[in-house]
Amino acid sequence: MADQRKPTGQPASGKPAGGKPAAGKPAGGKPAAGAASQPGRTVAPRPRAGEVATPEPDGYRSLIEPRTGLSEVLAPVGGFGVTLSNMFRPTVTEQYPSEKVPAKPRYHGRHQLNRYADGLEKCIGCELCAWACPADAIYVEGADNTPDAQFSPGERYGRVYQINYLRCIFCGLCIEACPTRALTMTNEYELAGPTRAGMIWEKQDLLAPLREGMLAAPHPMVEGTSDTEYYQGKVTGSTDAQRAWVAEQRPQDPTLPGGDGLEAANVPGPTAAAQAELAAAATKQGSR
Ligand code: SF4
Ligand code: SF4
Repeated sequence: MADQRKPTGQPASGKPAGGKPAAGKPAGGKPAAGAASQPGRTVAPRPRAGEVATPEPDGYRSLIEPRTGLSEVLAPVGGFGVTLSNMFRPTVTEQYPSEKVPAKPRYHGRHQLNRYADGLEKCIGCELCAWACPADAIYVEGADNTPDAQFSPGERYGRVYQINYLRCIFCGLCIEACPTRALTMTNEYELAGPTRAGMIWEKQDLLAPLREGMLAAPHPMVEGTSDTEYYQGKVTGSTDAQRAWVAEQRPQDPTLPGGDGLEAANVPGPTAAAQAELAAAATKQGSR
């Protein structure tokens, strides 16, 4: 029977129909770029699978002088020189938590809400710190001072003050924003905790401890002063009138003369107390 298949147009010799040259063979006999037939140029043949290409005669040459003599002999152990030289230097490893190294003076640690010299709080509840915080870590609620409950000089005080240490990045923008220097940062850095709720520090955790000459707030301002005198540092301690007011309102106040003293007055807030316990436990564990 005769063959009924249609012709494909591909001649048996491998040449395409219409005289178009096959791949790798340019038309008109002109060699392709990089081809070995360029006059005056020798091109190494492409390595086959498993072969390593031989470098071109005019290829890369290292500018590093080759080692000779003793340096050539010591080269394999040269890297140990760094190790050996450090073995005889003083140890800089810190043995934390069994040994606590003090932080640098300007270290950004836990915050503190400061007091004036008579014990009144510096925070006026303005919320500027909360607005400045890029991490939204501060929550403040202000309230009005009253003659029976004066917590800070002037009209307002911070009734609620919280810092969420899960969010805080210790950038210090809040303390820059504070107009009364109520908020500063301490060098304390032991702030880890086992619960999320425990990482939110309340006002009583953040308030600065009462010192000699201070009376626990609330109590009236020093007689004849305004908040301006407080800001200017003209109040240097509590007065007899203030002590008399506190003795009348809170006869058992430990900050009164003859009271239980500052140790009894400076009871840390629940979060601060829990944190101190954790730090002590970590120190104990580290010293084992
Ligand atoms: S240190 Fe920075 S992140 Fe932390 S509470 Fe202040 S402003 Fe917010
Ligand atoms: S800490 Fe300073 S900025 Fe923040 S609410 Fe108190 S006074 Fe205002």
